[in-house]
Amino acid sequence: MIDSSLKEIAAALRAKTVSAVELATESLARIEAGNPKINAFVTVDRDGALAAAKAADARLAASHGGPLTGIPLAHKDVFCTEGVLTTCGSKMLSNFVSPYDAHVVTLLKAAGAVMVGKTNMDEFAMGSSNENSHFGPTRNPWNTDKVPGGSSGGSAAAVAARMVPIATGTDTGGSIRQPASLCGITGIKPTYGTVSRYGMIAYASSLDQGGAFGRSAEDCALMLSAMNGHDPRDSTSLERDTEDYTADLARPLAGLRIGLPTEFFADGMSDDVRAAVEAALAEYRKLGAVTVDVSLPNARLAIPAYYVIAPAEASSNLSRFDGVRYGHRAAEYGDLNDMYCKSRAQGFGAEVKRRILVGTYVLSHGYYDAYYIKAQKLRRLIAQDFAAAFAQCDVIAGPTCPTVAFGIGEKSNDPVQMYLGDIYTVAVNLAGLPALAHPAGFGAGGMPVGLQLIGNYFGEARLLGVAHQFQQNTDWHARKPAV
Ligand code: GLN
Repeated sequence: MIDSSLKEIAAALRAKTVSAVELATESLARIEAGNPKINAFVTVDRDGALAAAKAADARLAASHGGPLTGIPLAHKDVFCTEGVLTTCGSKMLSNFVSPYDAHVVTLLKAAGAVMVGKTNMDEFAMGSSNENSHFGPTRNPWNTDKVPGGSSGGSAAAVAARMVPIATGTDTGGSIRQPASLCGITGIKPTYGTVSRYGMIAYASSLDQGGAFGRSAEDCALMLSAMNGHDPRDSTSLERDTEDYTADLARPLAGLRIGLPTEFFADGMSDDVRAAVEAALAEYRKLGAVTVDVSLPNARLAIPAYYVIAPAEASSNLSRFDGVRYGHRAAEYGDLNDMYCKSRAQGFGAEVKRRILVGTYVLSHGYYDAYYIKAQKLRRLIAQDFAAAFAQCDVIAGPTCPTVAFGIGEKSNDPVQMYLGDIYTVAVNLAGLPALAHPAGFGAGGMPVGLQLIGNYFGEARLLGVAHQFQQNTDWHARKPAV
């Protein structure tokens, strides 16, 4: 049943052909069987899941509840969950139990979704491959020698391996779209400010945004509809009414203008990714869409701008992990300063330290104007490029990642190579736009390829509708790995 669409599961729950407790039990069994290989979960909350499922069954029996009531889900371990470990993939927080729920967790609880556990991730969401976790890498369910993508790789792998139908993720520079693409599922990062960051452990606050993973655009639409809305506890939460992202699912594609940025289709993507992307675009044309060439002339500056701004914000955000207010404290130390130094040296992994060093450097007196301010100016230019492009098209399409999933360990000694893998995703975060990735075929070694669709501000419903129409006419999203 876990492999069915949310709509089918919801109907079955109401027809009483399955109960929420049975669904949770099935999900837990799939995790138990698959997790030793995939390492998608850091924590499994069996008792909590069964109790929540019982409560969901009671709601359903009273004819209450909505489309997510009784649906098993997993949270990326960046979201604080009251009473359940929240590690953020780090030794620093390896024993942290949050006293409160993140806003997104509260909303999904209220919707009746049943949390089965917390998923593995790159430490503090820094990474593109999920190899930076203190708890070991997550493996791609399509080939366990390959990465699942990061940083929300645990969530994407859990959905791809049919351990849960839906999961949360966060996307600072691609961390929902990349793993969705590399694991052959659908994932959406909404417009900055639509999903509350309260209780979502901060990496780079002006870029971080929570979002949804599902096997289809329709499932993501149902999930994201329950996650968005104004939250006064997040100062960057937009004062908008909660939106129903299923509104455009039935809208036909006839006349849709898909912009193709010349810069995205120049050299850079591998031949197999290009072939799948082109085939998906041909399918869109067949369904009535027209493609137009657009230009994002500053897109090539997105990586350097992002890798100044994100570490700058991270260096500030991560200063709170000092062994006093939060986190790991060294067992032995001399004075107070030595305690800070040792605790942080022991608690953070190599990539996190690299980002803190880079961030501290670019914010330091003398370099602030040359790097940080310059990057902010580039950020503005990148956003203006998108604004100009959206005058000519309704959505923008392109690859999500330059290649299919690479081998575990293949790039881990070359951080710059790893950063370059974010070439198609980070500009979206710098501009604060919504974007999704959906399955679009397979490339080398039978590994999935995802197409990226970028929308204008608040274009989530349209984006999900476009992907849904594609999925009504193709079956890439229905293919599943043999795990
Ligand atoms: N790969 C990017 C980084 O390492 C993006 C990560 C993310 O979106 N959380 O910063």
